[in-house]
Parts: sequence; C-alpha cells; structure tokens
Amino acid sequence: MSYFPQEMPRPEPDRDDREFWASCAQQQLRFQACAACGTARHPPRPICHQCHSTAVKWVEPGSRATVYTYCVVHHPNHPALAASVPYIVGVVEFPALPAVRLVTNITDSAPAQVRIGMPVSLWWDDIGDGQYVPRFRPDSP
Ligand code: ZN
Repeated sequence: MSYFPQEMPRPEPDRDDREFWASCAQQQLRFQACAACGTARHPPRPICHQCHSTAVKWVEPGSRATVYTYCVVHHPNHPALAASVPYIVGVVEFPALPAVRLVTNITDSAPAQVRIGMPVSLWWDDIGDGQYVPRFRPDSP
C-alpha cells in the first residue's frame, strides 16, 4: 500500500528524468552527474551548469540524509490528498553528495517532531505498476 492514495498523480518521466525514475523503479536512488567535471545535479538536466558538458554519469548518494528544510501541508493541493493532510514535504541533503538536494516526503513523524538537520533514512514507497518513489523517515533514536 502506497503512502498516498492510488489516485495521487504518478511521476511522468520525460527525456531528462527518465533514467532517474527507471532507477527508482529498481529501488536505487541515483542522481545525474557530469561525466566531464563530476558536478552532481538534480533534477536531471541535459547540460552541466559548471562546464556545459553533455556527458552524463549517475552517482549514488547513499540512503542517509538530513532534513535541509520542510513544510507541513494542511491544505491538499490535489483532491486525492484530502484525507492525507497534514503531511510533510521536505527537502533533504546527502552527506555523501552535498551538491544535491531532493524534494520528498518526511514520513513516520508527527509534524511537530521534524527538525532541520534531523537525520533521516530512505525508504521506497511502492506506488504500483513497478514504480517506487523515494521517501524518508527519521532514523531510529
Ligand atoms: Zn561539468
């Protein structure tokens, strides 16, 4: 059972993020990086903002992250989420890959308990049809 209702809109991969979502379907979190200078970036883009190379490689940030910032959503921005509020939208950053931040959900935590800098760990949300979405929960104390 997925974290949000099945009516929640699914990812719609395009030419730039198709590889990202394909990795997620394999429960592998990988971010795009420049194969020329190594600069990691997310969301995926066709050109490196540092050196303008179009050469691409994929790097793994690991499953540990920290909360960079977050907000508590009280007003659902889609009708399918009406019963899911309040939920937490967070931006997480990775000690192993400091250049990248990921917009995600912080789950398994009451909104009042989430803190900036809080350590969180990746879990894979099965949204059906072979697709998984990366979400994060607080590390066990
Ligand atoms: Zn580059």
